[in-house]
Amino acid sequence: MEGEICDFCLEGRLELDQVREYYRVGKGLVVMENVPAYVCNKCGERYYDAHVAKEMRRLSKRGRQVRQRISFPLVRFEGKKATG
Ligand SMILES: [Zn+2]
Repeated sequence: MEGEICDFCLEGRLELDQVREYYRVGKGLVVMENVPAYVCNKCGERYYDAHVAKEMRRLSKRGRQVRQRISFPLVRFEGKKATG
């Protein structure tokens, strides 16, 4: 997959990288580090090998593999609504 043209923007090329992925589980969020992904060098779209996607699903269900719990602020965007 590395070096292929991005399916999303059709311009960038995919480079293998290790990313931090925010994986939604129910109403919660699991943060995974060092996830191998192919990242578009133009738009940043991420692609995963099938086995990586499968592993992320598996890890998201396994509480005992949690390495660390972190907290972070959640801020609601309070900008004015566009009018007219
Ligand atoms: Zn792209």
